[in-house]
Amino acid sequence: MDVIVIGGGIAGVATAYQLRAAGHRVCVVERHATVAQGATYGHGGTVLPTPLDVWFGPTFMASRQNARNGVVNKAGFNGSARQFVKQLAELQEPNAFGHQYGLLRPLIELSRDTMADMEARFGLEFEQTSGLLYLVRSEQEWEQLRPARGLLQLFEVPHHELTPEQCAAFEHSVRTEPEFAGGVLFDQERTANAPLFTKLIKQTLDTQGGVQFMLGCEVSSIRLDGQRASVELAPQPGASSRSREVDVIHADAVVVAAGHGSLPLLERLGLRLPLHPLRLHTLVAPIAHEECAPHVAIVDAVKRIAISRMNHRLRIAGGAVLQSAGQIDKPLGEAVTKEALALLGQATHDWIPGAARISVALPWEGVKLLSPDGLPVIGNALHPRLFVNAGHGPAGWGLACGSGKLVADLISGGTPDVPVDTLAALRPDRFK
Ligand SMILES: Cc1cc2nc3c(=O)[nH]c(=O)nc-3n(C[C@H](O)[C@H](O)[C@H](O)COP(=O)(O)OP(=O)(O)OC[C@H]3O[C@@H](n4cnc5c(N)ncnc54)[C@H](O)[C@@H]3O)c2cc1C
Repeated sequence: MDVIVIGGGIAGVATAYQLRAAGHRVCVVERHATVAQGATYGHGGTVLPTPLDVWFGPTFMASRQNARNGVVNKAGFNGSARQFVKQLAELQEPNAFGHQYGLLRPLIELSRDTMADMEARFGLEFEQTSGLLYLVRSEQEWEQLRPARGLLQLFEVPHHELTPEQCAAFEHSVRTEPEFAGGVLFDQERTANAPLFTKLIKQTLDTQGGVQFMLGCEVSSIRLDGQRASVELAPQPGASSRSREVDVIHADAVVVAAGHGSLPLLERLGLRLPLHPLRLHTLVAPIAHEECAPHVAIVDAVKRIAISRMNHRLRIAGGAVLQSAGQIDKPLGEAVTKEALALLGQATHDWIPGAARISVALPWEGVKLLSPDGLPVIGNALHPRLFVNAGHGPAGWGLACGSGKLVADLISGGTPDVPVDTLAALRPDRFK
């Protein structure tokens, strides 16, 4: 089949890879001049989510104070944003949290296997580093994490619960003063560079052939008629003389993997997904003092701020800002940006003082899509020729590899390698 994939982030490129591996011809359309320039560029490093990373559960916005829960609420929050927060808050209830994580778990394992296969096949190096140490400030927060810690046991996720002294002994950059409650170490999980991986996969696809990358091209709409699907390209700036024929590409199927850009494309077809855009920040800071720099990634477990080392720099990611969906394309405003970046700087100072030169750090912000039930949106939608792969929230880096495989299996008419209840829980039409 000929398949068009809209979006050249990790989700689009991983889907293209899997489609090609299944024997299809693929065309990836990306509006930027190269791949991995959207949310994928700003990743925090964590490859696969544990129950401590998913964006739902007992610690999600458990406190109303921005400085405590790591999420900044922008003023002017409208009704749909409030509704979205309310729905996610329902998953703070431990049983609901456990149920939802249980549905996600097979996708996590599929993603792990899929990535391992891709890495082994091409011997890829993308700044992989083993080990993540999640740190918890207070006894109250430690208690809030109990359901997540229970899921680690239930799903036999390899981990170690550590006292503050054990944390400091394992990771020399962590101090025991001021006091904190403890940590959870995942020595078999890892961090890695998502944009680098995406570019390496593109390179292998360029070499192998069978996948065309149309870069610098924006899809303005999708057309679905009968047995064919087409995408219409927005006119290139200064190319007004091009004929309409050239601006439409036809295929047997279209996959929408356009991150935050997926929503307007689907809405124009009449599919309104209740996903909410969330702005996240990163700081990339040079290491200040080598002896203070961590050798494993440090994660502030409740504020969900990840600090991962990549060569001679630290990448600090988090600082979420909740705002109305309609405001997401407008600049955030200096005060809110400052507040979000301050959360990142403070977490770095709190956990690994002296490690990073925050004053000269480079800031970045990006938008990711979150669903109100915490699960991504993967599968067929509206028409037999239309597929969606979006809404991975804070966990799209590694999950994109499994979800790309899932979409490729569905398009090829194969049986996806996840249980039927997981498949149903990911379907785009589940929100009806
Ligand atoms: C600051 C930050 C930190 C994060 N940390 C982590 C982490 O530690 N671990 C983790 O697993 N996940 C993390 N995430 C989430 C993860 O980065 C995303 O889930 C993932 O990158 C989503 O990939 P994507 O391909 O769906 O979206 P994107 O990377 O946004 O890609 C979508 C692409 O589609 C293109 N596009 C959009 N509309 C159109 C159109 N109409 N025509 C053509 N092209 C279009 C865009 O230009 C873009 O390149 C983080 C996200 C952010 C922002």
